[in-house]
Amino acid sequence: MGATIIDGKGFAATVREKVAAHVAALQRDHGLTPGLAVVLVGEDPASQVYVRSKGKQTVEAGMKSVEHKLDAATSEADLLALIAQLNADPTIHGILVQLPLPKHMNEALVINAIDPAKDVDGFHISNVGLLGTGQKSMVPCTPLGCLMLLRDHLGSLSGLDAVVIGRSNIVGKPMAQLLLGDSCTVTIAHSRTRDLPEVVRRADIVVAAVGRPQMVQGSWIKPGATVIDVGINRIEKPEGGTRLVGDADFDSCAEVAGAITPVPGGVGPMTIACLLANTLTACCRANDLPEPEGLTA
Ligand code: NAD
Repeated sequence: MGATIIDGKGFAATVREKVAAHVAALQRDHGLTPGLAVVLVGEDPASQVYVRSKGKQTVEAGMKSVEHKLDAATSEADLLALIAQLNADPTIHGILVQLPLPKHMNEALVINAIDPAKDVDGFHISNVGLLGTGQKSMVPCTPLGCLMLLRDHLGSLSGLDAVVIGRSNIVGKPMAQLLLGDSCTVTIAHSRTRDLPEVVRRADIVVAAVGRPQMVQGSWIKPGATVIDVGINRIEKPEGGTRLVGDADFDSCAEVAGAITPVPGGVGPMTIACLLANTLTACCRANDLPEPEGLTA
C-alpha cells in the first residue's frame, strides 16, 4: 500500500475543538450561545442514531441542542408550523429536518420553509442558488467536510482535475460546485457516464458518492491521485456478520493513489463536525460578527 491514509476521524475532532473554542469566545465576549434544533419525524432507526449523535456532539461543543421528535403520522401543516416557530426563535441559529420524511410529506416544500439563514444542511433552494453562483451560502455538510479534507491534504486545489462520481443534490452536485469554487476542472460522472474508468483515470481528485460497495477499482486511479470516499455501504463478511465499506475498493485504490480516505473513519465523522461548524457560522452571521476562519467554504 502506497497511499497516505487521510484521517477524517482525527481531523473532525480538530474541527469540533475549533468550533468549541469559538463558541466559548462567543459566550465570553458577547453572551451568545449558538443553538441547533433537529427535527425528526417518525422512527427510522438510522435517523434516530444520527439525531442522537448530532445532539450529543452539539452539547459537547458548548452549543444549545433542541430535539423535536414528531410522530410519523404528524401532518405536514403541523411540521410547517413547528418550522415557523423555530424560524422566529432568536435562540435557534440552525434548523435541521432529518431526511427522509414520511411519504405523505413534500420534502422540498418542508426544506424550503426553513429560513435560509438557519438552513445548516444547505438544502434550501436559496442556498443551492447562492452556492451555484459563487456567493456566500450555507454549504451542505458532507461536501464541505470533503473540501476541508482536500484543502488540508493538498493545500491549493487550483487547476487540478477533479471527477465527482454521483450527481445527488446532497453530495455530488454541491461537491462539484465547491471544487469549481476552488478552481478545479470538474467532471461530474453518473450512472449513464460512458467508460467511467477512463473518466476517473484523468482525475487528480476522485470523489466517490455513489452508494455501490467497492465499485471504484485501483486500476481506474491515476497514480498519486487523492481519493475521497463518501460511500457508506454495509456488506456481509465471508466469515459471517457485516462490515462497512466505501464506494472505492480500498486495498486496490490504496496501491495506486497518493492519498485515500478510509471507511469508516474518513468522510463520515466530518459530516457532523461540519454541521456544528455551520451552526456556529449561522450564529455569527445572525449577529453581524466575523465568521470563524477555516470552517466555511
Ligand atoms: P444517491 O443515491 O442520491 O446518488 C447516487 C449517485 O450515484 C446518483 O447520482 C447516480 O447517478 C450515481 N450512480 C449510481 N450508480 C452508478 C454507477 N454504476 N456509476 C456511476 N454513477 C452511479 O446517493 P447519495 O445520497 O449521494 O449518497 C452516495 C453515497 O454516499 C451513499 O453510500 C451514502 O450512504 C453515502 N453518504 C455518506 C455521507 C457521509 O456522511 N459520509 C453523507 C451522505 C451520503
